[in-house]
Formats: sequence, structure tokens, C-alpha cells
Amino acid sequence: MQELLFLGLFVVALAIGWFLGRREAIKVGFMLQPHGSAIDRQYFIGLNYLLNEQPDEAIETFIRALEVNPETVETHIAIGKLFCQRGDVERAIKVHQNLLARPNLTTQQADRVQLELARDYLAVGMHNRAERLLEELGSSSSSLRGEALGDLVTVYEQQRDWLQATEIGLRLLRERPDFAVIQAHYYCELAEEAIRDRDINRVQVHLQAALKVDPASTRAMLMLADLEERQGHTRALLKLLQRVALESPDFVPQILPLAKRCADNGDLDLAAYLDKVLERPEPPMLQTVLARSEQIEQQEGVTSAQRFLLAWVQQQPSIGGTLGLLKLQPHAVVQAEEAGMQVLEQLLESLQQQRPLYRCESCGFAGQKLYWQCPSCHGWSTIRPLKGYEVV
Ligand SMILES: [Zn+2]
Repeated sequence: MQELLFLGLFVVALAIGWFLGRREAIKVGFMLQPHGSAIDRQYFIGLNYLLNEQPDEAIETFIRALEVNPETVETHIAIGKLFCQRGDVERAIKVHQNLLARPNLTTQQADRVQLELARDYLAVGMHNRAERLLEELGSSSSSLRGEALGDLVTVYEQQRDWLQATEIGLRLLRERPDFAVIQAHYYCELAEEAIRDRDINRVQVHLQAALKVDPASTRAMLMLADLEERQGHTRALLKLLQRVALESPDFVPQILPLAKRCADNGDLDLAAYLDKVLERPEPPMLQTVLARSEQIEQQEGVTSAQRFLLAWVQQQPSIGGTLGLLKLQPHAVVQAEEAGMQVLEQLLESLQQQRPLYRCESCGFAGQKLYWQCPSCHGWSTIRPLKGYEVV
């Protein structure tokens, strides 16, 4: 079925190209008439192959029939693309190489063919050739420079060559300022490498570079906070905690253990810190609410904590919130009731464990682990923590 569809598309593309070529020939005049007849003949030979269900021979004949001239270049590019999409990359390469060898292409057409050829090479894993073509295009003044650099950066990303990726990324940023989000992740990847090499200075340099290119990079903030804690830089650490609360309140749960350690050392007023996050207009993460409730329980007793948590759970009903409320129940209840409570708690806990904690905003991938790059669609920073809104 797909084969049929492809052939259909192919014949339509050829027919348009053939028509354009013929129109050109008529414009040029009778000089080309004999050649025009040759095209006609080839075209019908190809059609014959097609009708005899010999698509390979048909395609070869059609390509030979379709003369390359400025008006049919787009058709050739389209045909090459169709081959590539169909997985017949060798043939796509032949079509594109054949095109590039023509001296009568405009600069823009040559650039387009070069980009397509690079993509063919990528499709068959000939990375070196692809990189050379893309690098050349990316360094030119071509209007396709941004596209070429975008392809090139993806190649390095797939190879996890973060140094090359950041270098190309810096050039790409001039074309696409929104690339900053991804560029910051590349610096974070470099920082991860430096952590594995135990090179603290390099970690610091890469994380600062990440925050410079994308001041809202949550990943860089979290990693830097870890680093500052390990180095005992309390002032810098506290600043980062405030920055996460302000710029990425949904990620406060990720640094809660760190914030609690700061509070234990007497460096941070945890209650004030959490209140600041809870006062923000956007709904908070449940863990932030639960952490504050725990604080209230310690400082003012269980009744105040219950009142506080109940108010939040009524606003944003969730399994986790209800479970938190249950756990706050005073345990001085009669034996039978307590047993019933425990069953209820276990039920809610198993429901809670089955819930995904993160979801990709781009493709919907959901899971319980935080990925900075979606394993499904490969988007960067597309995975967000889920908030528990479900009604129980
Ligand atoms: Zn995704």
C-alpha cells in the first residue's frame, strides 16, 4: 500500500517536472525538438516498466528522462527526498550528487541540494561526509545556514559530543535565540562530565556558562546548588535556593532535602522559605505543601497542621494530599477504626505509587523519573513535574 502511494507521488512529481521541462523546451524553440522527443520516448518506456510492475527500472528511466534545468531542480530535490524518506538512501544520494554536479544551479539551489545530500549521508550513518557538508553550509552566508547548523548540532548531540555541540550551538544562537534553553543543557552535560572527572573548577565554569546563556535553567541552578553546598559556600547556596523558588517553583521539591539541611545548620528559615513559594500565584507542588505542614506540626502541633493541609487539599484535591491528612490523624482511636484507617492508607499509597510524577509537555511521555531530555521525543526541558489535581 505504501509502495503504491510512493509510486503515485513519484509519478505526479515526475509529470510536473516533465511538463516544466517540456514547457522550457518549447520556449527555447525548435532546436530542442528532437531532444524533447527523446524525453517523450523515455517517459513512455518508464511508464511501460511501471505498468509491468517493475518500479526500480521505471524509476531509473524516469530520472534519466527528466533533464536537469533550473525549472526541474525542485522536482529532482523532491524525488531525492522521497527516496530518502522511503529508506532508499543510496538512490537519494545518487539523485542529489547528480544534481550537485550540474554547473547551471543557482547558489540557492546548490545550497538546498547540499543540505539534502548531507541529510542522506546522515540517514546512512556517513557522519563525516555529512558533517563536512553541513559545516561548509553553516559557515557560508546562505539562507540555509541556520538549518545546517541545527542539523549539525543534532549530530553532535546524538554522538554526545557536548564540546562540539556547544561550539555549534553558540553559532546557532545567532540565528535562533530560543536555542538558549538547549544550549544550557549542553553546558550542563559538560558539567556532568567534569563531575565524573572530579574537576570542580570545570563544573563551575560550565554551570555558570549555562546560567549565562539561559538564566532560567533549572537544571543548572540545581546542579550549582549541589556544588556550592559541597564547597561550603553558604551565601551562594542560599541565593540559589531563593532563585529556584522564584524562577522554578515547581522544582522546589528537588532541592527540599538541601533546603532542610540548610535549615538544620541554622542558615535558612525553612518556614519563611516555603511560605514564599506557597504565596506565589501558581498552584504549588504537593511536596512543598506537605513540607510546610510537617513544619507546622513540629512547631504548633497536629491540629494546626491538619487545618493547614485540609485547606490546601480542598483547593487542590489529590491522593497524596488526602494521604497526608490521614497520616496526621491522631492515633488515639479505637483499635477497629485504626485497622480500617490502615487499609485506607495502604490503598491510597498504592494508588499514589502508580501515578507518574513527570510528563513531557511535548509528546505526553510520562514516568516517575525526571529526565532533562525526553527519552521519547528527545525534547529538552519538555518534561515537567506533575501536580496532583485528581479528585479522590
Ligand atoms: Zn517527549
